[in-house]
Amino acid sequence: MFNSVVIHYAELSIKGDNKGKFITQLVANIKSVLDVELETFYGRQVIHLNENSNLEEIKSKLTNVFGISNFAFAVKTENDIEKIKQVAAQLSKAFKGKVKVSAKRSYKDFPLQSPDINREVGMHLEELGLKVDYKTPDRIFYIDVTEKGTFVYYEKIRGAGGLPVGTSGKVLMLLSGGIDSPVAAYMLMKRGCKVDFVHFAPQTSNSEFGESKITKLAKVLSKYQSQTKLYWIPFQSAQMKVIPRIPAKDRLIVYRRLMFKMAETIAKTNRNYKAIATGECIGQVASQTLQNMKAVSAAIDMLILRPLAGFDKQEIIDLAQKIGTYEISIQPYDDCCSYMVPKHPELSTNIDEISKLEDSLGSNDLVKETIKITKTISFS
Ligand code: ATP
Ligand code: MG
Repeated sequence: MFNSVVIHYAELSIKGDNKGKFITQLVANIKSVLDVELETFYGRQVIHLNENSNLEEIKSKLTNVFGISNFAFAVKTENDIEKIKQVAAQLSKAFKGKVKVSAKRSYKDFPLQSPDINREVGMHLEELGLKVDYKTPDRIFYIDVTEKGTFVYYEKIRGAGGLPVGTSGKVLMLLSGGIDSPVAAYMLMKRGCKVDFVHFAPQTSNSEFGESKITKLAKVLSKYQSQTKLYWIPFQSAQMKVIPRIPAKDRLIVYRRLMFKMAETIAKTNRNYKAIATGECIGQVASQTLQNMKAVSAAIDMLILRPLAGFDKQEIIDLAQKIGTYEISIQPYDDCCSYMVPKHPELSTNIDEISKLEDSLGSNDLVKETIKITKTISFS
């Protein structure tokens, strides 16, 4: 019955001159997950369906594409009120509840105005035995009249919202095996960032990355964008060098500063990354006091994004479940930060003291040496 999918943009209407760029990116992102042709209609994109179209696949894939406010399987017909009535009748076959008609006329040369369309179609449905009720309808018939044809549909499927991935630039996310950082990555993708990952593995070589939960997390997250990259850095030998030179209470901060420096080096070497991001949340653990976040941030000069700063744990867990990362995140994993963490870490680090300690450690060379064995893996 349906011959089209009508896709409405989220937020794009407010983007002024950038609108063209946003639409181009959205179309590219849809095409990267679905083998379909799209046509631009005023204020919307349309997929033309054929007998081979898999509606379930289209529905599940489109739901994960950012930049879509809602979409609907629709019948496209001519800009002719008689044809529109026929389609509405066809779509209400076997339906018994109360109905409402909601027309939107973006093609101003269409002879009837929206309220007239509502009335005409509503009367036609009443003639067919349906009850029209504008206050508490069970089904709303949407009628979009555009310059190139009219779409009739009754089920608006909610999209992921946000901005098309790629329109806000590239971000390098520190991805741990925990619950938070995958959710943080999702939040940034939702705001149009293309997110790649760097993971510091609790190993000395890069032989084990293949089946790890980190790769599983990166794969799940690549449902929301295409072409995801994961930089895998064995971190244990760097940690071993830290232990004899840095007092136990300061080690956590030094590990984290090393991670940020390595991430920044990768981000700058591969250019195009506009920010580093983490799943940190204010006050959650010792390294996430404001003072310690500042001490860690001071290790680099790139912009650092912490999209979960103000979230409660339960809110993060709810989101992790929604986006499909929770079950993977709760699997056991020896994170390199939980590894060798002192019982009483410093809660209020002094940046100058830490810098001196790091100089004695030769941290710049340690960074260079460690990232030499980075393994890069790509997901389509
Ligand atoms: P998460 O649930 O994301 O692991 P957390 O609450 O356990 O966060 P920490 O372990 O202090 O908190 O980590 C804070 C942030 O630092 C993480 O969200 C992540 O961005 C980054 N991070 C921590 N460990 C690693 C790691 N081994 N590799 C890459 N990034 C890491
Ligand atoms: Mg963690």
